[in-house]
Amino acid sequence: MGKYRKWIQALTLIIFGALVFLGKMKLWMMVFFASLFLSSIAGRFYCGYLCPINTCMEVIDENAAKKGKKRRKTPSWLKNDYIRISILVVFLVIMGFVFATGKKLPVLVILFFLGLIVTIFYEPSLWHRYLCPYGTLLAFFSAYNKKGYEIDKRKCIKCGICVKVCQADAVNWPKQNQFPEIQKNLCLVCGKCEKACPQEAISFTSNTKSKKRNINDVTSKCP
Ligand code: SF4
Ligand code: SF4
Repeated sequence: MGKYRKWIQALTLIIFGALVFLGKMKLWMMVFFASLFLSSIAGRFYCGYLCPINTCMEVIDENAAKKGKKRRKTPSWLKNDYIRISILVVFLVIMGFVFATGKKLPVLVILFFLGLIVTIFYEPSLWHRYLCPYGTLLAFFSAYNKKGYEIDKRKCIKCGICVKVCQADAVNWPKQNQFPEIQKNLCLVCGKCEKACPQEAISFTSNTKSKKRNINDVTSKCP
């Protein structure tokens, strides 16, 4: 399915645009909630395949890479669970208000443009891992997901390319003499690391021995 990813992203972006135009954002929320529950068994495919914010962020990201543009790294004070959870709580309160009152606040559209603006100035992991309230919810729901990209240690040469290409900071590599490890609840299932690995050491698998993951994984790479 990875080879059709760009097509699926383009199609869902068009659908999202049409729903915004028609004022039917509740339909998009239904897509999100369905993806949220499915993420517990299939990972964050919403991020890699369906999310209109990520689709446009990837265009900005690829453009920055082509031009060799360096963007700022995530400020260390933002790598904080309290901030991440506070953003989520504010988001849920606003969405609850929208659903309860029927008011048409453009919450998703605001988030869409916020994600793009952040990505122009900062590396995309700031949004994916620390700011996006959808990402935080999906990280919770996919905490026990067993399917996803994994690194075959028999093939890996510890070159670190997968760490560099990951837009979500989902590849944990604490020391250069250790094997990197993909954290499934942070992974956007984009497949970029699989394509970039010179050893073909990364593949999508269903690992029944996956370890428990929790919110601490979210900041396990923080200094
Ligand atoms: S890119 Fe491949 S070989 Fe290099 S560290 Fe990652 S998994 Fe190992
Ligand atoms: S770990 Fe690989 S598949 Fe997951 S978000 Fe990073 S680059 Fe994409």
